[in-house]
Amino acid sequence: MKDNGEIKQIPVCPRCGSENVSADAAARWNPEKREWEVSAIFDNGHSCDACGAGEVEFDWVEAKNTSEGRGDQPVCSLLVASTAHVTATEAQSLADLGLARGEFGFFLYVAGDPNALRTELGALSEGLQGIIDEARNRGCPYLLLDRDGSSIDGLPTYDW
Ligand SMILES: [Zn+2]
Repeated sequence: MKDNGEIKQIPVCPRCGSENVSADAAARWNPEKREWEVSAIFDNGHSCDACGAGEVEFDWVEAKNTSEGRGDQPVCSLLVASTAHVTATEAQSLADLGLARGEFGFFLYVAGDPNALRTELGALSEGLQGIIDEARNRGCPYLLLDRDGSSIDGLPTYDW
C-alpha cells in the first residue's frame, strides 16, 4: 500500500458518473506473463457501459476509499497527549493497573465511571484529572498518554 494517502484520480462517465467506462486502447503481448497488456490508451473511443454514452470525455475525480465503512465496527476518537500531565506516582500506579502502553505511555478508557480511576489511584493530580476531562469534553472515550505526545496548554505538567 505504498500509494496509501495519495489522492487517486479515477475516470468516470461525465453523463452518469459511473466508473464502468471503457476506452479504445492498443495492446501488446507480454511473452513472460503470457497475456495482453495495455500499452496505450487512445484519446478517443471513450464510452460508458452504465448509461451507454459514447465518445465522451471522462471526468477525473478523487477515488473514494472503498474500504470505508466496511463492517460495523465502532470507530472511536482518542486524545493523544503527553505523559507529562501525570505525576511520577500516578505513572507508577497506572503501570501497576496494567494501563501501560509499552514503556512510553499509558492507554486509558475515560468514558466510563469518572470515579473508577479515583477508586484505584486515590485523588488524581490536577494534570491527570485535567487531561481526562479534556478527553471527555472532546468526546474521546480513550486517552493515550505518550512520551512524545504534546502537552495541552493550561494543564499542569510534572517532571519525572
Ligand atoms: Zn454513463
